[in-house]
Amino acid sequence: MVIEGIDNLFIDIIERAKALDPVNTRNWFDKLTLLHLNGGTLGIGCPDEATVEYLQEHCKSTFTRAAQECTGYLVSVDFKVDHKGQEQPALRESKKRLKLHPDYTFDNFVVGPSNRLAQASCAAVCHSPGITYNPLFLYGNSGLGKTHLLHAVCCETKKNNYKSSIQLLSCEDFVNRFIRAIEQGEISDFHSQFRTVDMLVIDDIQFLQEREQSQEEFFHTFNALYHNGKQIILSADSAPADIPSLEERLISRFNWGLVTRIDPPSYETRVAIVKKKAHLRGLTISDEVAEYIARKVQANIRELEGALTTIYAVSITTNEDITLQSARAALEDQIILGTRAVSITDIIDVVTNHFNVRLSDLQSKKRSQSIALPRQICMYLARKLTRHSLEEVGGHLGGRDHTTVMHACNKITEVQENDAQMKTLLQELTKQINQMQYS
Ligand code: ADP
Ligand code: MG
Repeated sequence: MVIEGIDNLFIDIIERAKALDPVNTRNWFDKLTLLHLNGGTLGIGCPDEATVEYLQEHCKSTFTRAAQECTGYLVSVDFKVDHKGQEQPALRESKKRLKLHPDYTFDNFVVGPSNRLAQASCAAVCHSPGITYNPLFLYGNSGLGKTHLLHAVCCETKKNNYKSSIQLLSCEDFVNRFIRAIEQGEISDFHSQFRTVDMLVIDDIQFLQEREQSQEEFFHTFNALYHNGKQIILSADSAPADIPSLEERLISRFNWGLVTRIDPPSYETRVAIVKKKAHLRGLTISDEVAEYIARKVQANIRELEGALTTIYAVSITTNEDITLQSARAALEDQIILGTRAVSITDIIDVVTNHFNVRLSDLQSKKRSQSIALPRQICMYLARKLTRHSLEEVGGHLGGRDHTTVMHACNKITEVQENDAQMKTLLQELTKQINQMQYS
């Protein structure tokens, strides 16, 4: 296949892809390179493995469609690391297995009073791993940037020393791999995977709660690394001592280094984050729109981003620029692509109001029936009425893991099948939640 003006064509393909899927568009799309167009395949060059994974996961069909529309041929696309790219091959190779999110870098992290200490301690650890703060323990509510910072640390540490071996994983993954290693009799492989690294980074360590054997295993992993001067970084939804049923010896170890909290961002930080996220998507929004979004969404940065996405999606479908009026209409009516969307906040408002409890109770560790029932109902309704994942729903309700949410949904489903009163209550709550969309 010989195509004239192929470089311009490639620019057209990128522009077309951006228009087709603005939500997943990033400003670095312009840095993608054309590797080849032959045998019906368009090779697209990416700077690193993280970018390849992002495109593969979120943008494959969009790029394929863009390529087919622009070339008029039935081409497929193939994302590959561009070996002429700037990153050193050795660094590229060593980052390959880490599965870092390309957006989660220090450059893309907005620093403010709520996260300054956490960001600074993460940055310090990259320069002297195992020495400055060990372990480093970050905690804070869901959606405040813990995972983002952990990825940024790994990325930066690799840049400083590509030879350092790093394991980055969620605690859930750690536990699952441990269970699998026991089942398959491969525990010594498991030990060598985790006890010989230079840096071990585990996200959402609260997942260890009530898992005694995994706690025991992690205790020995911790000791082996610590005594060899290797860096350990952990994140959780609460301070070590507040993680339920966590062994005392782990709590004390987590406090050996630096424990740092991330708070919800101030208004100014939220404005800066909205602008940063808009820039990352190659979007221009006015100050007043950024300020409006920052006022509207306060507690969770993930929701802040969601609001920006909603506004953007509406502007694309209506083909209008983003103005304060359109932003307001998009968020207040929550009309996403013609369908009305319920938010978790609506659900929480209606449920807490009905049961006369506070959101902070639902997010707390309290397990009394008067709190547990409304919490479970929130989880059930959130899964039924929104498109949030189990993890996201758990995140809103005090950082509970997906199994807890699943359990709650099953329980409420079961109860309502056998209990007409519960069924009526759920119908009534759903009606109120839907009415909120019109108020
Ligand atoms: P957590 O792990 O604490 O639940 P995440 O790290 O997943 O939160 O962050 C949720 C979203 O908010 C991510 O898209 C992340 O990039 C973004 N985010 C959080 N804090 C910041 C910040 N200070 N600057 C820019 N983006 C942020
Ligand atoms: Mg996280």
